[in-house]
Amino acid sequence: RAKLQQRTGHFYFSRSMGIDIRERVNMMHALRAAFEQKQLFVVYQPQIDITTRTPVGAEALLRWRGDDGTMISPDRFIPIAEYSGLIIDLGEWVLRQACQELVRIHQQGFTDFMVSVNVSQVQFRHPHFLTMLRRTLQETNAPAHCVELEITESMAMEEPEALIRLLDQITATGVSIAIDDFGTGFSSLSHLQKLNVDRLKIDRAFVTEITESARGSSIAEAIIQLGRNLDLDVVAEGVEDERQAEILTELGCSVGQGYLFAKPLTSDVLHNWLHEYTNRH
Ligand code: C2E
Ligand code: MG
Ligand code: MG
Ligand code: MG
Repeated sequence: RAKLQQRTGHFYFSRSMGIDIRERVNMMHALRAAFEQKQLFVVYQPQIDITTRTPVGAEALLRWRGDDGTMISPDRFIPIAEYSGLIIDLGEWVLRQACQELVRIHQQGFTDFMVSVNVSQVQFRHPHFLTMLRRTLQETNAPAHCVELEITESMAMEEPEALIRLLDQITATGVSIAIDDFGTGFSSLSHLQKLNVDRLKIDRAFVTEITESARGSSIAEAIIQLGRNLDLDVVAEGVEDERQAEILTELGCSVGQGYLFAKPLTSDVLHNWLHEYTNRH
């Protein structure tokens, strides 16, 4: 049997590709099992007003600890969840967790606090997305104006008409929209102008570049300027040191997210962190 597999494998696809597919199928089953057995969890990475050092919100990020205790990166398992369709249920679950967390944070007195949730293009294209969003807001009692959905720049480039309408409908619920990893795609100014979006998130790569060379800040600067022209708020992702924070402030970007302020935190830790950070600053 091994021989046959090896032989057919040789004809149809390379050995490494065969292993890759098998690995992906295994991961797909393991992910579904982990989800059903409630082994997935959501962590929250604070977003900070850089000038006042006030926490203004947090991004919800999905986590999966494998059976052997090691963490599996969402960059690896999200594509598999998308491919298998599991992302529909998974994404709804993350949104629900984030909305419930938001309500708890507001109850702690942080009443302007926002929560941001990543949305996959598979979810976004699903015909019941809007119904799901409205239902989740209603059932969790989360204030829509404190919920933000993050879509990627490539998603923002597709099917202009349908996208414009969907973004308008989402905006009508009170939920706001951010474009994630901004600067890595190819949005044009005229296209962006037609979209009902509220924030741009400068991709971490451009934040890192800020301190790396004399012209390193030019892309971040261009994005901040674009935000100003289109009346969009700008958030910097992956802020790791004070020098970056300083330059971002000089360039006019007031909100940052990154290891300088906090790593993604579990719900319990986030609550302690919020009180502690607020007392310290
Ligand atoms: P993203 O949405 O761009 O999230 C930001 C990523 O940067 C997170 O990685 C975060 O942990 C990481 N990060 C934040 N600050 C720093 C920093 O200062 N330095 C460095 N080196 N990294 C930083 P993470 O959690 O591994 O997530 C990776 C990607 O997986 C996310 O990128 C997002 O595209 C996707 N993802 C995560 N959770 C979800 C989810 O619930 N749904 C969907 N559809 N995608 C998700
Ligand atoms: Mg994101
Ligand atoms: Mg990002
Ligand atoms: Mg990303």
